[in-house]
Amino acid sequence: MVLRYCRRHERRWSFTQQGWVAFPAEKIQAIQAYAARLRAIDPEAPALLVRDIGCDVCAATSWPLAQPHGATNGRHRREP
Ligand SMILES: [Zn+2]
Repeated sequence: MVLRYCRRHERRWSFTQQGWVAFPAEKIQAIQAYAARLRAIDPEAPALLVRDIGCDVCAATSWPLAQPHGATNGRHRREP
């Protein structure tokens, strides 16, 4: 089982909802701990893999940063 998760915004990709849902980091840790415990008892239990990827918020916020327009903003501060 692969879980797609964005640590920065604490959001998880939901296959059932086909979208990003808010998901606290403690819950991810709890699920990981549970999966590890399960595998300790039953080695055939499915492994849980948390893939750290960017969410829709990451994609939305990285756009303005990629634009070169904002780079010159700090250079206009030398006026008396
Ligand atoms: Zn994100």
